[in-house]
Amino acid sequence: MNKGIFVFIEQREGTIQKVAFELLGKANELAETTNSQVTAILLGHEIASQGEHLIHAGADEVLYVDSQDYQHYVTEYYTQALTAVIKEHEPEIFLFGATAIGRDLAPRVSARIHTGLTADCTKLEIDEETGLLFMTRPAFGGNIMATIICPEFRPQMATVRPGVMQVLTLDESRQGNIKKFYFQLIKEKNKIEIIDIVHESKHKINIEDAKILISGGRGVGSKENFNKLYDLADVLDAEVSSSRAVVDAGWQDRQRQVGQTGKTVRPNLYFACGISGAIQHVAGMEDSDLIIAINKNSESPIFEVADVGIVGDLNVILPKLTEALKVKLNEK
Ligand SMILES: Cc1cc2nc3c(=O)[nH]c(=O)nc-3n(C[C@H](O)[C@H](O)[C@H](O)COP(=O)(O)OP(=O)(O)OC[C@H]3O[C@@H](n4cnc5c(N)ncnc54)[C@H](O)[C@@H]3O)c2cc1C
Repeated sequence: MNKGIFVFIEQREGTIQKVAFELLGKANELAETTNSQVTAILLGHEIASQGEHLIHAGADEVLYVDSQDYQHYVTEYYTQALTAVIKEHEPEIFLFGATAIGRDLAPRVSARIHTGLTADCTKLEIDEETGLLFMTRPAFGGNIMATIICPEFRPQMATVRPGVMQVLTLDESRQGNIKKFYFQLIKEKNKIEIIDIVHESKHKINIEDAKILISGGRGVGSKENFNKLYDLADVLDAEVSSSRAVVDAGWQDRQRQVGQTGKTVRPNLYFACGISGAIQHVAGMEDSDLIIAINKNSESPIFEVADVGIVGDLNVILPKLTEALKVKLNEK
């Protein structure tokens, strides 16, 4: 048995972030291939009760640093703790979410440990022949997929894009150890002080959790015309998302952008309305369960990933579809 797969558990104000559960799901799968264990690394204050949840979500063991210094993310403190964890336990693999925190933390840890790090991976697998972690990420604006290995140094480190990996179904019968991890924090090295934490006041749009997305592209034509998408979204209890072209044109908020530089989504149903299907867009939605594309150009690449394709003008089709669905759903 090798020394295992470690997962950094990101918490914000004591709430474990969804990406941590996604990583535990992936780590669990990798651990089966390598016959190793999954260890969740949780840093925080008085949140030990969350440990069990992590076990149910796929961890075999939780290492927990409990201190007021760890209540909020501080680059230096977190880096010191993870560096100490790695030196003591020498894991094979260490995974982070590619969030603002993960992207700040992972490079610092990898530099101190002197090991390799691949950023923003969308695919991870163990190579059967070598046992190495194959870390795949889009590169050069998504035009190529690069698979990167770290043969010499340990741990093999990666940040993983949120929304790509699957969360395991919680298994309450899973058992595991929750252990405190102790080490000597050197506070003098810290150069950052948190003065205030400000919450974004505007309504947060969460397209990643929507079961149905009505997504619009440049073909929608204008900001006002998005009302046709909102009308359909109302009937289906769906959320509206968009391509980047729409965000760049100022028709939609960036929080709604799907794609390589936006969010990765995996709804049950994705409507692509007036979206051409550029690779950078498709990268963020191709794993949707069912894709319905409406586009007036039958040659559009979106039809290559669509399960159902409708060639026509969305200005005609969307209102008709909305009306028809209203009638159908009222019949029930
Ligand atoms: C580094 C990099 C990162 C990027 N990241 C992203 C990203 O995260 N997300 C993203 O979406 N893009 C991203 N892009 C941009 C991407 O390459 C495309 O430019 C963009 O996705 C195009 O958006 P679109 O499909 O809305 O527009 P267009 O490509 O202009 O397509 C509009 C479509 O609407 C159709 N249409 C027009 N009128 C109608 C009508 N009345 N009815 C029906 N159909 C109609 C047209 O046939 C066409 O297919 C990125 C690009 C780069 C270089």
